[in-house]
Amino acid sequence: MLGQMMNIPLTIGSMVDHAARFHGQTEIISVNTLGGTEETSWGEVGANAHRLGDALTRLGLDPQTRCATIAWNNRRHLEIYFGVSGAGFVCHTINPRLFPEQLVYIITHADDRVLFIDKSFVPLVAAIRDQIPCVEHIVLMGGQDADAAATLEGLTFYDDLIATGSPDFDWPDFEEKTASSLCYTSGTTGNPKGVLYSHRTTVLHALASNAPDCIGFSARDVVLPVVPMFHVNAWGTPYACALAGARLVLPGPGLDGPSLVALIDTYRVSIALGVPTIWMGLLGEAKASGSTLESLTRTVVGGSACPPSMMAAFRDQYGVEVVHAWGMTEMSPLGSTNQPLAKHGDLPTEEQHRLRESQGRPPWGVDLKIVGPDGGELPRDGVTQGDLMVRGPWILDAYFQSNAEETLTDGWFHTGDVATLDADGYLSIKDRSKDIIKSGGEWISSVDLENIAISHPALADAAVIGARHEKWDERPVLIAVAAEGQTPSEAEVLTIFEDKIARWQVPDRVVFTDVLPRNATGKVLKRNLRDEFGDVLMG
Ligand code: AMP
Repeated sequence: MLGQMMNIPLTIGSMVDHAARFHGQTEIISVNTLGGTEETSWGEVGANAHRLGDALTRLGLDPQTRCATIAWNNRRHLEIYFGVSGAGFVCHTINPRLFPEQLVYIITHADDRVLFIDKSFVPLVAAIRDQIPCVEHIVLMGGQDADAAATLEGLTFYDDLIATGSPDFDWPDFEEKTASSLCYTSGTTGNPKGVLYSHRTTVLHALASNAPDCIGFSARDVVLPVVPMFHVNAWGTPYACALAGARLVLPGPGLDGPSLVALIDTYRVSIALGVPTIWMGLLGEAKASGSTLESLTRTVVGGSACPPSMMAAFRDQYGVEVVHAWGMTEMSPLGSTNQPLAKHGDLPTEEQHRLRESQGRPPWGVDLKIVGPDGGELPRDGVTQGDLMVRGPWILDAYFQSNAEETLTDGWFHTGDVATLDADGYLSIKDRSKDIIKSGGEWISSVDLENIAISHPALADAAVIGARHEKWDERPVLIAVAAEGQTPSEAEVLTIFEDKIARWQVPDRVVFTDVLPRNATGKVLKRNLRDEFGDVLMG
């Protein structure tokens, strides 16, 4: 017997329709690519999404045609998210920081037919135009622009395009499992791999992320997604904010500390989301300018480990709660968020702060386990480390254009992360499995060492690698970037580890460098560091 309830598919179009109908006046602030800020609303964004869906349909595109974007976080990008998916096409967000040959690979692999670009990326696209013949329409995200048109032949303009569509266009009917959007992992090795989300997974992920113990946006929030809309859909923020009817501040190209502090203070941002490196710039500027970040109540920090010293700075100097989150492109991306349990309320304050440092626990919809080398499940005791496996309704089954047998192990996705889990599901990420340091049969977490190193006031950045060692196979070496105007000695840097970890875990050496190599999503390229510094302990 089936239940007798309405069978209405979970779709992305319905999310923006909700926001437009019930939060139509709610403001969307958008920093333009060419400077200046515009104010629009969920009502306008909804109407333009329908116009765009209609205009694309009139171009005669087949259902699920991939429509790509190379763009900053701005109002038109938001409309494209909803208009492309709502009309049954696939919104493929592309990271502009990828190398040109990776862009060509991704666009060709995805078979993108439409490419929406911000003005900043006209030269980038002009340089690869003849290598991406699959693209039939290149749309500049703005009004008519003679300079851009002269650089890119056949360019069309977003504002003209949507003028050909109607705000009364009806979203077509389709199944909720239909593909909605596509994101490629930035990968540190090999070709990027595509993760193809569906309408259903996107809606479920947005609902879960809006729970109070997850991110929990509300209609009273002003939300600043600093995490780019080309990085796992800005962690799903546009969708979750549409459901909640939250106000959005879209920061455009300026992600430096001064621009962000100005946005937070001007628009009274209450929640900001981003990776730790972005918050370094923000904290530096808040200190320099004397801003108290008065309106900010929460930052959601993920993408790489948030150092405890950064949490303490937000909490103690600005009264801002850091919600540490972990996830992956393959997981839409949310896998866990750190919020306390009722029983933690009675613990001493220091202990409560310490508990907030881990990557947190999963929401409903994410199942986690850790396994040993033989695949057997390991205890959830908060101490034992193992390979982290996940499954759930918004986790990928297979990469785009590959099959599940290659991707899953007995229905579980292998994250490639090494972690501990405790009985309450609190997850502590120790490393990527290929980065963990194996010293004489013992494992040393590079993440733990980096978290300590970065709290040294004379350092601006730090990464730890396993360097080859004759006796111990591998030993930790700290690659450090000195803070501006500082020239700490190796011995001075190493004092930061005293009493914080066992002596045998302290790095054997500190090597200073000017800047750490990072991939397109800001993660440190440990492989490059190992190539450069992997032999510093030999001979
Ligand atoms: P991506 O798919 O590019 O977002 O990368 C996902 C990977 O980033 C994960 O598998 C982790 O290794 C890492 N990661 C994400 N969030 C965190 C976090 N809060 N702490 C440590 N590592 C993280």
